[in-house]
Amino acid sequence: MGEKKYRGKQIFEWVNKGAKRWEDMTNIGKVLKEKLQKNTFITHVKIEKKMVSKIDGTTKYLFLLEDKNIIEGVVMKYKHGFTACISSQVGCVMGCSFCASTIGGLIRDLRAGEMIDQILQMQQDLGERISNIVLMGSGEPLHNYREVMKFLEIVNSESGLNIGNRHITLSTCGLVPEIKKLADLQIPINLAVSLHAPNDETRQIMMPIAKKYSIKALMEACEYYLQKNNRRITFEYALVKEVNDEEVHAKQLGQLLKGMLCYVNLIPVNTVAEARYEKSREEQVKRFQKVLKSQGVEATIRREMGADIDAACGQLRNNYINKKIKEKQ
Ligand code: SF4
Repeated sequence: MGEKKYRGKQIFEWVNKGAKRWEDMTNIGKVLKEKLQKNTFITHVKIEKKMVSKIDGTTKYLFLLEDKNIIEGVVMKYKHGFTACISSQVGCVMGCSFCASTIGGLIRDLRAGEMIDQILQMQQDLGERISNIVLMGSGEPLHNYREVMKFLEIVNSESGLNIGNRHITLSTCGLVPEIKKLADLQIPINLAVSLHAPNDETRQIMMPIAKKYSIKALMEACEYYLQKNNRRITFEYALVKEVNDEEVHAKQLGQLLKGMLCYVNLIPVNTVAEARYEKSREEQVKRFQKVLKSQGVEATIRREMGADIDAACGQLRNNYINKKIKEKQ
């Protein structure tokens, strides 16, 4: 538009503060405001529905996008501050069999701005600063690589949300080439890998991506990531009754991860109406953790947050879509 460079910085800062209209940008002159009004627009994700857990204050949001698609996000309150779990795509193509986000397939990628805006809307609504981000909502972040990288840059920028890379976690179902690509960038974010099984056979039952990339290839990519970043990797392991939660699985997992700079996050799988799986019993989860520890692999059991508000991945969005379909019929 032929404007001075610092104008871009001013606008960037306003948008990151959540400004919704050009008129609100007090340090931008009238002529430029009119030019911007004519040639550009500011979009926002809108809070369509909000649910607050009575148990632990976890807040779940359904956001309405400009094209009427729906995504979801969650804010969890911890001792160290507020953590936002956001979506990176509308739906997901990866087909993990325990996940409600993938039931309707992938609709589209989210733009970096739509990811940032989920955080801005949460902050504005709660009147609190979000200090940690997890890319663990619907979508596979590395399948929307370009926009997610742009998002990471903005979120970390001092004039953006100014959230340190060490407070950001990217969770992937294991896209091997993209993990290597991300490793090469050497951004000190936390990497979480959804492993969910210690061998290819079981993993292929749970996650179609395992047919494309073997555990061996995935582990090589993780080693490469560690070489480049030297940051501990988290392996997510959703425990499903009689599928991947037996002692033999724990032993195999221990063997696989022994000596690696990592820890395992054990997740008693969320109950989703459409899913075919049952949650592992509590004793079984504890036993699994004990076997891993006895092999020198650190493992924690994830605390269930917002159990009373459909906080499981994709569950709220899915229930909302089903309700809308029924209303139309
Ligand atoms: S777990 Fe993640 S990658 Fe797998 S289907 Fe769900 S959103 Fe997609």
